[in-house]
Amino acid sequence: MSEAPSKHPDAATVIERIRALPLRPAKFMEVCGTHTVAIFRAGIRNTLLAERKIELVSGPGCPVCVTAAAEIDDVAQLALREPGRITITTYGDLLRSKGHDTSLADARAKGADVRVVLSPNENIALAQQHPEREIVFFGIGFETTQPGLAHTLLEAERRRLANFTAYVSHKLVAPVLEVLAKDPRLKLDGFVLPGHVSTIIGEEPYGFLARDHGLPGVIAGFEALDIIVALYYLLAMREKGEPHIVNAYKSVVLPEGNIRAREMIDQVFEPTDAHWRGIGAIPMSGHVLRERFAAFDTHLRFGLERVIEDESGFGECRCGEVLLGLIKPPECGLFGTRCTPEEPVGACMVSSEGACANYFRFGQRR
Ligand code: SF4
Repeated sequence: MSEAPSKHPDAATVIERIRALPLRPAKFMEVCGTHTVAIFRAGIRNTLLAERKIELVSGPGCPVCVTAAAEIDDVAQLALREPGRITITTYGDLLRSKGHDTSLADARAKGADVRVVLSPNENIALAQQHPEREIVFFGIGFETTQPGLAHTLLEAERRRLANFTAYVSHKLVAPVLEVLAKDPRLKLDGFVLPGHVSTIIGEEPYGFLARDHGLPGVIAGFEALDIIVALYYLLAMREKGEPHIVNAYKSVVLPEGNIRAREMIDQVFEPTDAHWRGIGAIPMSGHVLRERFAAFDTHLRFGLERVIEDESGFGECRCGEVLLGLIKPPECGLFGTRCTPEEPVGACMVSSEGACANYFRFGQRR
C-alpha cells in the first residue's frame, strides 16, 4: 500500500502534473459501474484521456451485468410456479435483464408477483404483512450490498420468519480482479478500484495486484477530481516502475474497511464458486448461506440447483467481451441498432451502470 494525501490538490494542478509526465499510451480499467458513469459525467474521455493517449476500459463491476442468465431463468420460473403464493423481490435494474428464456418483467407480465425493493430489509415487513405468501429475495451485488442482506437474514432469524428466503447471487471483487490481471489479452497498466466496495473490504485485498502482477491500483471516489487524481497516481506509479495500491478516497475508505460489516457478512455467508455472466465460473467468487441459515435458503426451500456453470452463449450479444474489457460497446454489431436502452438485448444495455447503456447514453457511438 502507498500513502496518498488526505486532501486532493485542485483539478488544474493535477492536470498540470499529468501533462508533465512523459506521453506514453496507457490502458487502465475502471472496475466499477458507478465509475463508468462518473467518467462519462466528468467528460474527460474525449479531452484529457484522448490528449494523453490513455485508454480506459470498463470492467465487470455492474452487478446486473454479471448475474448469470440461468439464475434469472431460475427465479422467473419460480415466480411463475405458484403466482398466488410466491412473491419475488429484487432491485429495479434486474427486472428487465433477460435470462436465456425470460426476464422477471416477462414473468410479471404473465401474472407473477414480482416487486422492486430498495433495500433487503423491506422483505421483513413484507413477510410479516403476508404470512400466507413465500417472500423470495433475489440478492445480487458486490461487497457493498452484502451487509444489508446479512443484516436482514440475522433479523429474519431473530424474528423466526418462516416465509422468507434469499436467492443469493453475490459476487466478490478480488477473485475477478485476479482473472483480469492474469488475462494476457487485456494488457492492462492498472486499475481504478471501486470506492464503494472498498469501504467494506478496505485496502489489503487488492495487495496481490501490485505484489503478484506488478499492476498498480488506486481506490477512487466518484467526482471528476477523484477520477483525474486516480489517473495521475496510476500514471506516476507506472513511470516510476513502483506499483502499489493507493487509497485516494481516504475521506470514506478506511485502510481496514468496515470491520463490523465484514463480520456480519462472515457470520451469514461463506465463499463459493460462482458463475459470472459472459465470463464463466470463477472459484470462490460468490456466496452461499452458511448452514445455520439453511432455513432461509431459496435453493433448499424450493429444491433448486445452484448455478456454477452456465454454458449457453448469448448469440450476437458481446456482453462477455465488454465485461472483460476486450471490446468497447460500439464494437458490438447490435449496439445502438438492435440493442438500445429501450429495447436491450444484453444485460450491459439494461442497467444504469452497464457499459453499453452508458456509451449509448453519453453518445459514444461507433
Ligand atoms: S450492445 Fe447490446 S448486444 Fe451488444 S454487447 Fe452490449 S448489451 Fe450485448
